[in-house]
Amino acid sequence: MKTVQDINFKDKKALIRVDFNVPLDNAFKVTDATRIEAAKPTIVKILEDGGSCILMSHLGRPKNKENEFSLKHIVETAAAVLGLSVLFVNDCVGPSAEAAVANLNPGEVLLLENLRYYKEETTGDLGFAKQLASLGDVYVNDAFGSAHRAHASTTIIADYFPENKCFGALLASEIFNLEKVLGASQKPVTAIIGGAKVSSKITVIENILDKVDHLIIGGGMAFTFIKAQGGQIGSSLVEDDKQALALQILKTAKEKGVEIHLPVDVIVADQFSEFASTEISPIHEIAEGWMGLDSGPQSNSNFASVILKSKTILWNGPVGVFEMELFSGGTISLGNAIAEATQQGAFSLVGGGDSVAAAKQFNLSQKVSYVSTGGGAMLEMLEGKTLPGIQAILD
Ligand code: AMP
Repeated sequence: MKTVQDINFKDKKALIRVDFNVPLDNAFKVTDATRIEAAKPTIVKILEDGGSCILMSHLGRPKNKENEFSLKHIVETAAAVLGLSVLFVNDCVGPSAEAAVANLNPGEVLLLENLRYYKEETTGDLGFAKQLASLGDVYVNDAFGSAHRAHASTTIIADYFPENKCFGALLASEIFNLEKVLGASQKPVTAIIGGAKVSSKITVIENILDKVDHLIIGGGMAFTFIKAQGGQIGSSLVEDDKQALALQILKTAKEKGVEIHLPVDVIVADQFSEFASTEISPIHEIAEGWMGLDSGPQSNSNFASVILKSKTILWNGPVGVFEMELFSGGTISLGNAIAEATQQGAFSLVGGGDSVAAAKQFNLSQKVSYVSTGGGAMLEMLEGKTLPGIQAILD
């Protein structure tokens, strides 16, 4: 696996696909710079070698060239994070981009305008990829969050750099850390899959059954399993058409020797609201009109004891409606157990949109071994897929 560490960038112009698709507020100020910070090690390495960096990214989903999606809004934050000035050019291909690149000196950083101002980016257009490729000497892919898309700048472009392409430090560490979980030698391995729906995580669960010793299933998706087993779940979230599949998953898990842990009790509420009345209920006997919105104390304790005896832990998805304080206890308890296991030497990886948000909200990011930056990309890797953006560098 060739990474930025394997190349000397002296006097080279590195064309780096970064993921600067960051959230902006109404005044176009960056509200969370995590993704920019994540790209810093790659940029620093190239500059320290005596090279220059041409950064390309998408931002949002522009239809035309709307100002709100301009990467010029990112320049100030990128400069602050990198601790140097960041040049900007208001196009990503064509004469102005080419002129800006021609004037770029070693030690300088140039940010190109939003790649998705051109529909050719997402269609993976060869001509567009070739135009982009003409800007740099070496292609570096450091955009894990976009590695599951076969877009011009993430995948197609790599063909124009048969010898001069590599993984950025972030993408390399994402692959390394996920591999540590998926190819784990440190057993027991526990995966915690939570979140709203089974349907969005079926392929993940099926693939993960070959890799884990324990599977904790929590959050809204647990109720489809409980109902399929004949439980009374009140008005909890359920996907009736996935009940047969839930039973099949339980059967496969048994055949493979994977222990499945479902909640045994839940915090039930009389409405989906921060102001609801709540009670603790056995998960198989939820009264009509009540819905389970968080895992209960016995479940939390069961989950913690599984986690504390694990050596490798993967966490994707909250076990309750953690956005509301009233229903955040289960997710906090789970996160704390993962933090404790990590402190005792386990390797823990948190990934996929909402669990990363939960880890941040409850100050757990520093207490787990690795927090993945890619939502969809991470899920596709957990599904066992080879991501096109990764394959393109390996080819
Ligand atoms: P996902 O995007 O599939 O990981 O789902 C995350 C969402 O699941 C979060 O917004 C949670 O609020 C939600 N969630 C977790 N537990 C429950 C539950 N018991 N009932 C309804 N939604 C839930």
